[in-house]
Amino acid sequence: MENCIFCSIISEKIPAQIVYTDEQVVAFKDIHPAAPVHILVIPRRHIESVNVVQAQDETLLGHMVNVAGIIARQQGLEHKGYRLVINTGPDSGQTVFHIHLHILGGRKMPFRFDEE
Ligand code: AMP
Ligand code: ZN
Repeated sequence: MENCIFCSIISEKIPAQIVYTDEQVVAFKDIHPAAPVHILVIPRRHIESVNVVQAQDETLLGHMVNVAGIIARQQGLEHKGYRLVINTGPDSGQTVFHIHLHILGGRKMPFRFDEE
């Protein structure tokens, strides 16, 4: 998709610190890390957000979670834990409209869903 920053990373038009790739997904370090470990897992296929996910995408989305676990273990996060986030739409603060799974770890995650 033209004018998509994450499609540009996939096609190597713009650089990224890539930590994992396979035939379905690419994972790279977030440019503005919100935690000591902050990695994004994205599908090679452009999907705008969870809002447009269809049944045919279930295997791909499941693979993204599996890859997130592989990366988290590689980063040594398996015991202390980590958070996986998919922001969707304006209220979530989604800024890049190519679906992505945030892996956040290496510090306590203070935010709970009952807090402002
Ligand atoms: P979201 O708010 O869920 O849409 O998250 C988008 C994330 O992409 C943010 O955490 C940004 O810091 C990150 N980001 C934007 N551009 C780049 C880039 N060129 N390389 C790496 N991460 C990026
Ligand atoms: Zn894209």
